[in-house]
Amino acid sequence: MSIIHLLDENTINHIAAGEVVERPKAVVKELIENAIDAGASAITVEIKEGGISFIRITDNGSGIAKEDIPLAFMRHATSKIKTAEDLFLVNSLGFRGEALSSIAAVSQVELITKQAASLNGYRYIIEGGEEKSLEEIGCPSGTTIIVRNLFYNTPARRKFLKSATTEAGYVNDLMERLILSHPGISFRFIVNNQVRLQSSGNNNVKDILYHIYGRDISKELLPVEFNSPDITIKGYIGKPTISRGNRNFENYFINGRYIKNHIITKAIEEAYKPFMMQHKYPFTSLYYEINPSLLDVNVHPQKMELKINNGEQVYQITYNLIKDSLSKKELIPKISLSK
Ligand code: ADP
Ligand code: MG
Repeated sequence: MSIIHLLDENTINHIAAGEVVERPKAVVKELIENAIDAGASAITVEIKEGGISFIRITDNGSGIAKEDIPLAFMRHATSKIKTAEDLFLVNSLGFRGEALSSIAAVSQVELITKQAASLNGYRYIIEGGEEKSLEEIGCPSGTTIIVRNLFYNTPARRKFLKSATTEAGYVNDLMERLILSHPGISFRFIVNNQVRLQSSGNNNVKDILYHIYGRDISKELLPVEFNSPDITIKGYIGKPTISRGNRNFENYFINGRYIKNHIITKAIEEAYKPFMMQHKYPFTSLYYEINPSLLDVNVHPQKMELKINNGEQVYQITYNLIKDSLSKKELIPKISLSK
């Protein structure tokens, strides 16, 4: 007697949800990435109860066509790639087509969306993976997604969430990095009806660093820049005086993505080594633009890790850029001493 059967779509989505959306922060990340991929220039994020009971993301991006709405909530449904080859050229933040289906499997979702060319918009309700309604409504162009009561149908997972304050803190950290990673997008982050973070979207990284980290840090930053056909780096590095006991200030972004890459981390820390005490970590906010064909973003479901094919080259460029910039600062006192 056969005992093996294929899992139904809803069960599969529940399992995927365990990887893709383990807490409110992950939901916010996926939804903002979708808004960015949709070409939004303004994104508002609102959370209540740390995002557990309420998350609302509003964007002014492309909107979704009526026929595409139910599809968007199906697993492995994406507008961003078609074939495996596309994986090597992908420059959108998403491409797995897993976020909306996973989120909808474990919460109550309301989507309001309108394409600019369409006369009216649509409201779609899907709860626990079950479609409830799709109706025509009047609304501005763009997309609003409301996610209510995360894990309402999986109490065991809900129990793993921390307090509302702690969850809100996680979302706040994420928002800081997302705002930094896209200085050309105007963001608003609202917690329990109060505006917590705001950015103008005028591409001024220094302004954002000032807004997030304050004056004491922003006055200790050195601008850096490197240009070559396949790799450019721009941004700011902190003087060794503003080092930290952890890596929270070591930020870098590749093609608009906040990621971790051990080669870049190593290059940064090695370059700082002569200038810094042990167990101290530097402040960086570096923007890499790397030819997508040199990257493999398909490493981790949450896409936090990114493999670089020409790692050695990126290591050397990063190391030299930082070391030269820090050494220039040190040069002045050394020269005057030797005379
Ligand atoms: P992925 O981002 O990996 O493609 P998602 O499940 O996050 O998968 O989204 C599925 C699809 O829904 C996207 O490919 C996109 O076409 C559409 N979509 C999702 N969010 C938005 C949005 N805010 N604006 C426009 N289209 C969206
Ligand atoms: Mg997505």
